[in-house]
Amino acid sequence: MFEEEKQNVIDACKQLQREGSVIGTWGNVSVLCDDKIVLTPSRVAYDDLTVEDMVVMSLEGEILESPRGRVPTSEREVHRQLYLARKDITSVVHAHTLHAMAVSTLPIVEVPCLVEEMSQLLGGGIPLTKRYVPAEQHEKLGMAAAEVIGDRGAILLRNHGPVSCATTLEEALLSVKVVERACELYLSVMHSDYNKIPEQFVVSERYRYTHTYGKEV
Ligand SMILES: [Zn+2]
Repeated sequence: MFEEEKQNVIDACKQLQREGSVIGTWGNVSVLCDDKIVLTPSRVAYDDLTVEDMVVMSLEGEILESPRGRVPTSEREVHRQLYLARKDITSVVHAHTLHAMAVSTLPIVEVPCLVEEMSQLLGGGIPLTKRYVPAEQHEKLGMAAAEVIGDRGAILLRNHGPVSCATTLEEALLSVKVVERACELYLSVMHSDYNKIPEQFVVSERYRYTHTYGKEV
């Protein structure tokens, strides 16, 4: 089932690899289809991925299909719990991009909303999970992600890396790039007297982007 969605996930992984957004098999991608999660397997090189390697999991965490007996990505709980927390999203992308990883180590609760890519695409700043959770604590890591996502398009897993979510896979992939640039920007201004975008404009720009952008004259 979901052959097309599986291929889309593989294509997304290859795009992330081309763009240098992942190293090795760190990073993972999923889409939600008919309330089922199509996601990447654990520890299979992206170059070797085929649709038979993909795993289908229920929203309850049960493996429904894995033709080659693959285990789903070790960060499957991040994907699953974000889908449970956010009924509007259908794609989750986790990357290991350099500047986002750097910012994930800082003692801050959120990367401030500095520029319009952030207000429009991400809906504001980028929250960090409250504490570091080691990768082996799958469920706690997922809960930590779901705890801070709110209505935002991305978070940073503390001392780890970025996770983006969106209504389409294309937008979740674009968000990975926006997060990376936002974090690079933040690192360059964090010791300056920078200004955030005023809250009312964060809200109005997000609304414009999701409702009228590209449709108005
Ligand atoms: Zn990771």
